[in-house]
Amino acid sequence: VSKKWKVKPTSIDLGDDVYIKEGDMAIMAGPCSIENEEQIVKVIDHLKANNIKIMRGGVYKPRSSPYAFRGLGIEGLKLWYDLASKAGIKIVTEVMQVSQIEEMMDYVDIFQVGARNTQNFNLLDELGKVDKPVMIKRGISGTIEELLQSAEYVFSGGNEKLILCERGIRTYEKATRNTLDLNSVPVLKDKSHLPVVVDPSHGIGIRKFVHQMALAGVMAGADGIIYETHEIPEKAYSDGQQTLDFAQSAQLTDQIRKTFSMR
Ligand code: PEP
Ligand code: MN
Repeated sequence: VSKKWKVKPTSIDLGDDVYIKEGDMAIMAGPCSIENEEQIVKVIDHLKANNIKIMRGGVYKPRSSPYAFRGLGIEGLKLWYDLASKAGIKIVTEVMQVSQIEEMMDYVDIFQVGARNTQNFNLLDELGKVDKPVMIKRGISGTIEELLQSAEYVFSGGNEKLILCERGIRTYEKATRNTLDLNSVPVLKDKSHLPVVVDPSHGIGIRKFVHQMALAGVMAGADGIIYETHEIPEKAYSDGQQTLDFAQSAQLTDQIRKTFSMR
């Protein structure tokens, strides 16, 4: 995934004129977890009202506690994909294991590899064989080099439709959920031809600070921002503490676009 190998920036074409690429600002927003039909419809309406073309959400959730909500699974994904595609919205969702790839294949626009799976090399090998974009998040305690090596697994397997995501790393700092390492953005952009997106929601983990870190990500050179939004964040099944309500999301999206246009 090095620029030594390929000079031209990789452009991810999701169809219907939706791209994740250098020179553009992709916005991906949605809940941490897909919860039910009503929630999906409300988020889609919100995205459409703000011209956001990509919806995020998990149906397979890697939760720290096995007793927490772990997602609706494949049935939830099918329902979501049906509603989203009818609305002209693309979806990005996490795949947690090799056995899920095939069943998910027809119902995703981008496979997300979560931070807990960045070095699941079997999963990366298999994603190297599919004809579908893959967004790889930086590992929980992963270095920039390790993220690039993980991308290399998929790329060398034959799938060049890759996106890198900075989502914060675990440090000694306890005041925030993670430490959003915006240093990685210029470094990744310098080393690799792949698009880089920033996830300020997981990066800082505190709702009232997501806005600033998203805009900082734009100024650091990101090609996209992915963040969590929900009609009533306090009632979200997961990550409510870092989730924006729709008014905050609309404001942030507007500011991301304005900031990008000044970059
Ligand atoms: C998520 O996107 O909801 C998620 C679980 O992210 P990460 O893998 O970065 O923790
Ligand atoms: Mn989350």
